[in-house]
Amino acid sequence: MAIVTPVETRPGERRRLAIASPATGEPLGEIEVANAADVAAAVEAARKAQPAWAGLSFRERARVMKRAISTLIERQDEFVDVVLAESGKTRGEALAMEIFAGCDALSYWSKHAERILRPEKVRLHGMLRLAKKARIHYRPLGVVGVICPWNGPFILGLNPAVQALMAGNAVLVKPSEVTPRSGALVAELFEAAGLPEGLLQVLTGDGETGAALVEAGVDKISFTGSVETGRKVAEACARKLIPCTLELGGKDPMIVCADADLDNAAGGALAGAFMNTGQYCCGTERVYVVDEVADAFVEKVVARAAELRQGSSGEFDVGAIVWPRQLEIIEDHVRDALERGATVRVGGRRNPDLEGLFYEPTVLTDVTHDMKIMRDETFGPVLPIMRVRDEEEALARANDTSYGLAANVWTRDVGRGQELAGRIVAGSVGINDMTMTYGAPETPFGGRKESGVGAVNGESGLRSFCHAQPVFVDRFGGKQTAGTYPHSVKKDEGLKRVIRFLWAGPLSRWLS
Ligand code: NAD
Repeated sequence: MAIVTPVETRPGERRRLAIASPATGEPLGEIEVANAADVAAAVEAARKAQPAWAGLSFRERARVMKRAISTLIERQDEFVDVVLAESGKTRGEALAMEIFAGCDALSYWSKHAERILRPEKVRLHGMLRLAKKARIHYRPLGVVGVICPWNGPFILGLNPAVQALMAGNAVLVKPSEVTPRSGALVAELFEAAGLPEGLLQVLTGDGETGAALVEAGVDKISFTGSVETGRKVAEACARKLIPCTLELGGKDPMIVCADADLDNAAGGALAGAFMNTGQYCCGTERVYVVDEVADAFVEKVVARAAELRQGSSGEFDVGAIVWPRQLEIIEDHVRDALERGATVRVGGRRNPDLEGLFYEPTVLTDVTHDMKIMRDETFGPVLPIMRVRDEEEALARANDTSYGLAANVWTRDVGRGQELAGRIVAGSVGINDMTMTYGAPETPFGGRKESGVGAVNGESGLRSFCHAQPVFVDRFGGKQTAGTYPHSVKKDEGLKRVIRFLWAGPLSRWLS
């Protein structure tokens, strides 16, 4: 069952793709693949619109965001239906991940952008401050390209777009070809909110459109997707000498300590592994449980996982896999694990009772670190649990990965949790929690190692949509610089005496 199928087109026509629902196979229409000329035209329109937007006050920009919140609330069912049709997730997941988080992002950034981006007075150090004063201004970059994956098809376009817009930029969003209509909702939302034309445009298409966007002369790329594509985007951005933020894949570990509340930990493991059918960048992809509580923990997880209901209509807990390519990866990882000695405790196969792309919520034990399921990103509803000697082994295993997106630790001793968090190489860590990663706009979200470069969210994330420009003012109207020439031996000797006087003795501390 293909979810994205190329449509035959005549020479000279834009390529087209037919999209279908992963849950039902129902055709959802066609999209045109925007080509380099389309992208260039969009960049031109964005460039024209951006200066007037940058000239508005934060309050005026925030007004548009507030209208967008009202629209999102009014039209939430309509938006959710589009997301559900393309992604096959549950209604609750779409409401929480896309609508709730969307309102939160719009509300948070419209309230806090001004505080974070207002010009900052800098107290210059040492003698400098006697002669100069400085302020840092956060100038918009210009036109920002946002390239999105399919797993949070609306929010992962909306959230960076809101930040870029509040910082005074124009934005071009390129949704995934698997979920193009959900991505296009970002443009619909801002159009309804009265955002001036050209400031936020959506370019539908596949990798061709994404690659064209990177090459089109934009001022930054905010990319969310796989490591493989992220590397290509980074290389292209390096050639263009433009900044990029890369939010990439993960293999998030969960550590269950001997003193953990096992009921809560089992609940956290289930949510971590099966939320969004496991297609969640910060989903729990592997669990390390300390030997003395391993049996009790596994028993609780297995019992609860076996009760999860999978489906596409009515009430259900776990939805579909978004496209066949992902289903093949999941099947490959489970097959590899079973060949190497893993045991299926729940699931372990496509759901035979459902017609679309469904893989049963799966729990594996007896896994080892040479299995793909413990090393490569699975991005599906599979929870492999490994028994370890102690927390030190859990930590070593957790860090034995090329990824570093997020991690979570379960213990009643929060101090011990903090200590372990400090030794886990991951972008963010939850203690008795696995939800607060992308969800807190005030904290930077970004990966370490191959999980990414830079951050979205937090002050640093918002500021990454700006150039931090220091502006210096000479307190004496430029008199000092005016006397630069001519150079002379006498002046050089004088400068040497000053250097010695200032930094050879105790004065240097005061000057720094
Ligand atoms: P992907 O890398 O296949 O595609 C992402 C986007 O890049 C799509 O819009 C695609 O059309 C576009 N693209 C493809 N080739 C391109 C090219 N050469 N130049 C520019 N753009 C190109 O990723 P995916 O399969 O859509 O998404 C799943 C991945 O995203 C997983 O690895 C997941 O962990 C990751 N992800 C990460 C985060 C995070 O915040 N760290 C969030 C969500 C998803």
